[in-house]
Amino acid sequence: MARLVMKFGGTSVADLDRIRRVARHVKREVDAGHQVAVVVSAMAGETNRLVELCRDASPMHDAREYDSIVASGEQVSSGILAIVLQAMGVDARSWLGWQITLKTDDAHGAARIADIDSKKLLERLDMGQVAVIAGFQGIAPDDRIATLGRGGSDTSAVAIAAAIEAERCDIYTDVDGVYTTDPRIVPQARRLDKVSFEEMLEMASSGAKVLQVRSVELAHVYNVRTFVRSSFTAPDDPSILNADIPPGTLICSEDEIVEQQVVTGIAYAKDEAQISLRRVPDTPGIAAKIFGPLADANINVDMIVQIVSESGNETDITFSTPASDFERAIETLNKAGFDDVGGDKGLVKVSVIGVGMRSHAGVAATAFKALSQKGINIIAITTSEIKISILIDAAYTELAVRTLHSVYGLDAE
Ligand code: ADP
Ligand code: ASP
Ligand code: MG
Repeated sequence: MARLVMKFGGTSVADLDRIRRVARHVKREVDAGHQVAVVVSAMAGETNRLVELCRDASPMHDAREYDSIVASGEQVSSGILAIVLQAMGVDARSWLGWQITLKTDDAHGAARIADIDSKKLLERLDMGQVAVIAGFQGIAPDDRIATLGRGGSDTSAVAIAAAIEAERCDIYTDVDGVYTTDPRIVPQARRLDKVSFEEMLEMASSGAKVLQVRSVELAHVYNVRTFVRSSFTAPDDPSILNADIPPGTLICSEDEIVEQQVVTGIAYAKDEAQISLRRVPDTPGIAAKIFGPLADANINVDMIVQIVSESGNETDITFSTPASDFERAIETLNKAGFDDVGGDKGLVKVSVIGVGMRSHAGVAATAFKALSQKGINIIAITTSEIKISILIDAAYTELAVRTLHSVYGLDAE
C-alpha cells in the first residue's frame, strides 16, 4: 500500500467523458490498494473565461474578489469528479482549499502556500476515502480565498504530496511526459525519462508551462518524487497495467541521471518586450536610477544589455520585461526623468538548458552560429551556469526553437 497524489490538469477534465476516464485512472490505483489524494484543475478554458469576466467587469478589479471568482472553476471540477467516482462505487469526497486547510500568504492572485494542515485529509485517507481536492486555491491570513497564480494546481499537488508524505506525485496532463522541447511546436521532440530538478526549474521558468515553476521548487526542496504522465492513455492500457509505475517523466535529483547530455531541452517564453534607453549619462549609479524605480513599481526586469559608450559620456541600455509590463515600464522611466525611451513588444525569449553546460565549452557559440545561419538577429543574451537565453523577434520563434533543437542533437531519429 502506498499513499499517492494524482493531479489532473484542465484538458484532462475538460468534459464528462474525460472526467470519467480520470475516475478510472483513480479507481485503478484505489483497486491496487493505494490511498489516493486527487488534485484537479478547472475544466479547460474555464479559468480563462473567469479571468476575462473579471477584466470585463472592471480592468482595475479587487484582487480578493478576483480570487473568489477564478477559484470557482476548481470547485466545480472537484465536485463533479467526486460524484463520478461515487457513481463508480469509489468512496470519494471533494475538498476546497479552506477545508483542508491549505493556508497561503496574502499575495492575492499569486499567493504562496504557507502551511498545510493534513490531519483531516489523513484521517479520510486512512478510512479508505479518496480526497478530491480543488487545486489552485487556499485561504489567506485575511480568511479569504487566495489563488496560487496561473498553472497553480501543479503546486497544490506537490505541496499536498509533501504534507501527507506521499510516495509520489503523479501530474497527469495532455502530453505523456516532459519533452526536449514543446512537442506542439517541434514534432521531433523526444520524451525524457528523467529530468533533474535544476533543469526542470530552468525549463519551467523559461516558459515550458508543463509544470508551474513553484511546483518544481517545492518538489526539489521536499524531495517529492514527481512524475509527468498522460491522462489520455487508457487506464487499462498494458503499458500501465504491466508496469510498477505508469510510464512518464520523473523529475529527480541530478545524481539519479546516469547519462547526462550537454543540452537537455529548449524552452521559449512568448510575450516579451524590449525597452531601450538611449544616450543616458555613463556615470556611476545610473543603473540604480533606472532599475530602482522599476523595482519599486514591481516591474520584472530580465535581460539587461549596456552598450559601451564611444564618447565615454553617454551610453545606451536595453532590457527585457514581460509585454504586459511594457507600458507601465515606459511610464515609470519617463516619470524618473528618462525621456529617450523606446521599445518593442513582439519578442520571444528562447532558452537552451542543460546541466552538462557546466563542464562543456562552446555551447553558447553553437547557438549563436546556428541562429545567424538562419538570419535570426539576437537582441539580448543572458547566461547562467546551465542556461543560455536569447531574445529575438517573435516571428522567428518556431524557426529558432527547431534550429536549436536540431543543432544540439535533440531531434528524435
Ligand atoms: P495542464 O492543463 O494539464 O496543467 P498545461 O497546458 O499546463 O497542462 O501543460 C501541458 C502543456 O505544456 C503541453 O500541452 C505542452 O504543449 C506544453 N509544454 C511546453 N513545453 C513542454 C515540454 N518541454 N514538454 C512537455 N510539454 C510541454
Ligand atoms: N485552473 C488554473 C489555471 O488555469 C490552475 C491550473 O490549471 O493549474 O491557471
Ligand atoms: Mg498546467
